[in-house]
Amino acid sequence: MNEKDKYFNKLRKKNLRITEPRKALIEILEDNHLTFKEIQSKLLERGYTNVSTIYNNLDFLLEQKIAVELHINGTKYYDLAIDNPMHNADSHIHIALKDTNQIKEISNNSVFEYIKKLPELENLNVEYIKITIGARTKKV
Ligand SMILES: [Zn+2]
Repeated sequence: MNEKDKYFNKLRKKNLRITEPRKALIEILEDNHLTFKEIQSKLLERGYTNVSTIYNNLDFLLEQKIAVELHINGTKYYDLAIDNPMHNADSHIHIALKDTNQIKEISNNSVFEYIKKLPELENLNVEYIKITIGARTKKV
């Protein structure tokens, strides 16, 4: 089962409708971190022109915790998030590469474990850990 099917299954399990626009949105966001404008233009290529429909479907995916909204350097990006404990709607680590404008992910459980064991969090239930790392390519 590929990633995309996992998202569709999640919707099915919750008895939620997998409409064509929702399907298209999931396909576009798979392995991508996109701004609303980028989503809009990619959906336009597929014939989806209605902006409020895109907003509604995106909201729907956010509510279902299938998509996640990231705020990086003042820009909002959208991303898929599913049962990966190191990259889900609540917890994720991203690297914003400033020279190439790329966004990458770090899936390293020891980072989350380390943070959760910090003495400041000793008596607390951690609900989310969201980290953005800004970086530039090293000049050699
Ligand atoms: Zn991500």
